[in-house]
This record gives sequence, structure tokens and C-alpha cells, in this order.
Amino acid sequence: MIEDKNQQRTSLSDFGEFKLIDHLTSHFDISHTSTVKGIGDDAAVLDFKDKQIVVTTDFLVEGVHFDLSYMPLKHLGYKAVIVNLSDVFAMNANATQITVSVAVSNRFSLEALEELYAGIETAAKIYNIDVVGGDTTSSTSGLLISVTAIGEVEKEDVVYRNGAKPNDLLVVTGDLGGAYMGLQVLEREKQVFLVNPNSQPDMEPYAYIMERQLKPEARKDIVKLFKDLDVKPTSMIDVSDGLSSEIIHLCKQSNVGCDLYENKIPLDPTVITACEEFNIDSTTVALNGGEDYELLFTISQEDYNKIKANPNFSVIGYMTEPHVGMHLVTRAETKIPLKAQGWNALNNQE
Ligand SMILES: [Mg+2]
Repeated sequence: MIEDKNQQRTSLSDFGEFKLIDHLTSHFDISHTSTVKGIGDDAAVLDFKDKQIVVTTDFLVEGVHFDLSYMPLKHLGYKAVIVNLSDVFAMNANATQITVSVAVSNRFSLEALEELYAGIETAAKIYNIDVVGGDTTSSTSGLLISVTAIGEVEKEDVVYRNGAKPNDLLVVTGDLGGAYMGLQVLEREKQVFLVNPNSQPDMEPYAYIMERQLKPEARKDIVKLFKDLDVKPTSMIDVSDGLSSEIIHLCKQSNVGCDLYENKIPLDPTVITACEEFNIDSTTVALNGGEDYELLFTISQEDYNKIKANPNFSVIGYMTEPHVGMHLVTRAETKIPLKAQGWNALNNQE
């Protein structure tokens, strides 16, 4: 589906290995005063004064985490940064620097890597992040990308997964299930394309969910919003693996139970339409789909008035005493235990 429109093809072996990372990143801007030394020495030097530092890393592997037949390299570079920034924001921290390491096989050209780094640069610009290091090396098969993200936070502002208390409200940002349904559409169109390369599908109705899959955003705005609203969540996590497993992480680490209300789970109308088309239950998609990169958090009930009018937030349940357990309260008002099923269960369902 995605054609390589780059006519020029410079082999990576024609390009000196040491010159490569320099070539790909030398024009990147440095904007944070905490970046004392970026790329160009043996190591970066960072100075955060009296702030606390958060560090997180993620690996993306071709064929496991992404499929280049529908994922443009520029989008992949962008997404590789976003998934890491999301983890920084989930600590209520500001993301400041990243390092990027890439392993590529010889089927990739210099121009392909430039596309990948163009996506990385776009994300760095939009999220105001300095790229301060990285490595490129060869791989015997496929493309691997590892990004490490660094962020800063005042000691009193850090939010962990383990601070939720019984009666705290469970809140999620944005809407859920879009990235998973976007993937379903892309997989379907890939199969259609393999049978008939001349097919011209109308993808417009799926624009939102395809974007959720191909070009997700991380909720930097929410970290600022918490400050503006004077709210500090009692616990927080980002939604990378599906709502259900993230709730279970918060409950287990905080030693609380939870009642999650099915009718409160935020779904975009496009997701509901796509679920009907694919004959998949939309609640199942929200619970197990993953890759939405929204923030899931708990707040004390006293803070409810501060967030209730804000369209970014949906209160989806509340935390309970641990012996009550973790439940989904369905639209029919029956309680069923929450399970972390993840992608595999979804793929196997009838
Ligand atoms: Mg996470």
C-alpha cells in the first residue's frame, strides 16, 4: 500500500558508520538548558539542578510491533518517540531529552533512514525534546528501534502507580479503542491490496482511527492541565496495553479494588461504527485493544469539582477496598471480574 516514492537509493554501506548518526541528527536543535552537551562527544551531559529525573525505554521490532507495508517510516519514527514520551507523562513529568538507537538490515537505504529520522525530528519539535544521543548499527533482518526518554519533575509532583485509595475516582483522558480499530482497518486493506493491487478503497471514514494507530499523540497537555487545575492524581499509568490491564496494574500496585462502569467508557463514534462493521464488541476493544496512549489516573473525591467540567476527562469508576476485587459493571448492571486479556484474546475471539 505504501510505495517507496524515493527514487534515489544510497546504500548504507556506502556511508561511513560513524558519519551516519551525525548525518541523521546534526541539524536537530537543542532547546533545553538541562542539555549541557548533546550529540558529538562520548556521552551526553545533562544538568537538572534539584529536579527528579525519570527515565524510560521502549523497543520497537519490525514484524512484532509494526508492519512497514502500511506504516510509513516517517510515522514509525514519530510513534517510536511518542510511546516513550507517554511513559514520561504518566509519571506527571515533563519530557526533555531522548536517545534513539536503530538497527537496520541492508534492505534499507540512507533515504529510508532519513525518512525515519524526519519523523523523529517532527516529534522532537512538537514535544520540545532534545535528541542527545543514539547509535546506528546493522541487523541481519529487519528494523529495530529503541528510544530512551528522559524527563524532569519536582519531587512533590511525581505520581506513581501505587497511590490509589479506596473511594478515589478512576479517570481516563480522551477516548479508547481507536488505535486497535485503526489496526483492523489497515490489516483488512493490506489483505485486499495483496489480492487486488489496483483497489482504491475509500479510507476517509476511517481517518481518525487510522491516525490513532499510525500517528498517535502523547498527553503532554494533561501534565500541564493538572498544574493549571491544581490536581495531583493519587496514581497514574498510560494506556498502552488496554484499559483492563492498566486498571489491574493500578489496583495491584495500590492494593485496592475497582468498579469500572461500562457505560462510562469513552468511545469515539468512529470506533463504534468500525466495531459494528467488524462485528467486534466496543467494550472489549476499549478494555483490551491498547496503544491509545491516553492517561489513566485516580483522584481523591475532593478533587472531583476541579475536573468535572473538563472535556478531556471521563470518570469511569471508583476504587474500592481490596477484598471487593476488580469488576466491570455492565450496562445491564451485572458485575463481572476484570481480566487482562490483551491482544491475543482479542484476535482469537469469534
Ligand atoms: Mg506505560
